Amino acid sequence: MPPQRRAVAGVAYGACVPRPTPDAAASPDGNVVEVRRSARRRRTVTAYREQGRTVVLIPAAFSPAEERRWVAQMVAKLQTREERRRRSLGGDDELMSRARVLSAAHLDGLAEPASVRWVDNQQRRWGSCTPADRSIRLSSRLRSMPDYVVDYVLVHELVHLLEPGHDERFWALVARYPRAERARGFLEGVELATHAGEQPGDAPDPDSVD
Ligand SMILES: [Zn+2]
Repeated sequence: MPPQRRAVAGVAYGACVPRPTPDAAASPDGNVVEVRRSARRRRTVTAYREQGRTVVLIPAAFSPAEERRWVAQMVAKLQTREERRRRSLGGDDELMSRARVLSAAHLDGLAEPASVRWVDNQQRRWGSCTPADRSIRLSSRLRSMPDYVVDYVLVHELVHLLEPGHDERFWALVARYPRAERARGFLEGVELATHAGEQPGDAPDPDSVD
């Protein structure tokens, strides 16, 4: 779910009181579950992850038994979806194949990375590129994000193999990826949510390059 929609949901259901749910305090994957009841909801249940927590939105009229059943069901559904995504993104080999496909589709195959890999030590950037040895690294934080966002960061770093800086020519090449603007909006939303409360200027630059 894009952060924009999260923000909207936060406003729309801001009137309901988050209620601790002892029966579902932590899901099997270790995430804390926060159940929010909404008088506006009649039948629909929504669940999403938010900064290490699992938020489940349920109708106010649900009984405790219904709440337990739905929370368990929604957490299982989230896990299945995340597991599917982990599999589809795969390891470094899959990432390299994906980079080749994107380069062929949007950059006439001109960007030819020597290595593309996932890294866990990039907390302040989404991706980085070292044109000298044509290596690209993607933060493993992207693994839980939609495919088009991962593809955007890959395209961004691939373009750095052709244009090291962020000049006009660079952005013109990035714009060949049709969902570039949408992906940038998604990442900005995530950064805003993650770094809320920090001093302005502390937010990471998703475009940082080594
Ligand atoms: Zn960049």
